[in-house]
Amino acid sequence: MKLPEEFTAKMQSLMTNEEYQQFIKELKRKVMIHSLRVNTHKITVAEFLRIFPYELTPVPWCPEGFYLPKGFKASKHPFYYAGLYYLQDPSAMLPAAVLAPAPGERVLDLCAAPGGKSTQIGAAMHDTGLLVMNDVNPKRTKALLKNVENFGLKNIVVTNNYPRELSAVFANYFDRVLVDAPCSGEGMFRREARLTIAWRREYHPSLCVPLQSELLAEAARMVAPGGRLVYSTCTFSPEENEMQVKDFLAKHPEFSLLAIDREGVSPGRGEWAGDQQLSKTGRIWPHLARGEGQFAAVLQKAKGGERLELPAWRVPEPEERQFQPFRDFCAEVGITPPLGRLVVQGNDLLLIPENLPGLSDLTLVRTGLLVGELHAGRFVPSHPFALALERQTARRQLELAPDSYEVLKYLRGDTLLADETSIEGNGWLLVTTSGFPLGWAKRVGNLIKNYYPPSWRMR
Ligand code: SAM
Repeated sequence: MKLPEEFTAKMQSLMTNEEYQQFIKELKRKVMIHSLRVNTHKITVAEFLRIFPYELTPVPWCPEGFYLPKGFKASKHPFYYAGLYYLQDPSAMLPAAVLAPAPGERVLDLCAAPGGKSTQIGAAMHDTGLLVMNDVNPKRTKALLKNVENFGLKNIVVTNNYPRELSAVFANYFDRVLVDAPCSGEGMFRREARLTIAWRREYHPSLCVPLQSELLAEAARMVAPGGRLVYSTCTFSPEENEMQVKDFLAKHPEFSLLAIDREGVSPGRGEWAGDQQLSKTGRIWPHLARGEGQFAAVLQKAKGGERLELPAWRVPEPEERQFQPFRDFCAEVGITPPLGRLVVQGNDLLLIPENLPGLSDLTLVRTGLLVGELHAGRFVPSHPFALALERQTARRQLELAPDSYEVLKYLRGDTLLADETSIEGNGWLLVTTSGFPLGWAKRVGNLIKNYYPPSWRMR
């Protein structure tokens, strides 16, 4: 791989010769680290390790993170489709780990797509409180939504706004805000060689710094007094990391830096910003830990002042009879739906977070969980609804073993035959693997019609 000369020269000037040699040797080495993060909203780590077919090695800085054995295709395993884990570079697990969200909090992920950190945040919150996820790129919000739906999250709002539009609504509102900023991506050079070209053209550090600074300023406004802001990048450049945080602290005296103290995470390079305080930030170096390059800073907003309360979203209270087809469906299949407030919007039936504020000034991609659609008195369940259900034994359930040929057929969208199963009678079925919901199917005569959505199928 050809690294940009300007990049190598800069790193050489910053590091001792010995450190630089180790760093550059590792950066040029062809390695691909594979790892997953367990969805603790659906399964405990202990139970996951019991049912997962391979031995896993822990990621030191993230208790739900594990290195995968070589050659295992984790994106082809049915547990992936059941939302039991997310595939993510181990270093990328650091920002949400140090954000440390708790159940019941209000959290904003400002640059969220495609949702790696959002899924980690939502799982840590056990899908309580409110998780607002934003990305400025509309196309990328689709991928974000799919990932959080796969994780079974429902206390969510996905927005597609500029940060200034969000801060106009949410000043002093969130307990925690993550700014996983667009950056020059130097930490990912080893993983994606084409990033070295983008680095020169679009993502040069000098182009990223002003945008990051603007994102941080808007994010700071949205943190409630006493709340926490985490800033992260996947680059090595001091301008985007320690120097960016130094500049932020100078402009925002209401924030102070908290130290990151985790195994495998090196202290930030305070000396590169001319201020040892910045050593409280954290870096993951590929030559010192098993992961790509990463930077994170934890910033605490001083207490004092009001935490904003927003008026609740006013939705016309639907008539109970509107829900009847949904209730009949749940009774037919014998499932316990998740608790929450049901609302109807057009044909969509949504389950929205309790106390969801009115957000009519924002571009909403999704509010809550899309449970299904209501058409002329009929209820058609959504795929995310199945994934939001807990591991369970439904009355009408088609359990497919994780190592069976049938589960692969189902995930590829094929029709199954009823006489190859123990399903009796026509009607809807919840399809599961090891009890974890995968999606819906419907028995019609001897056919099990497959309702696995085309865009979610295993290829
Ligand atoms: N946090 C994501 C994850 O873990 O999957 C990765 C985020 S990526 C490093 C940066 C994201 O910032 C991109 O998805 C990009 O579209 C988004 N972005 C760029 N400019 C933005 C802006 N002005 N406001 C919000 N998001 C922005």
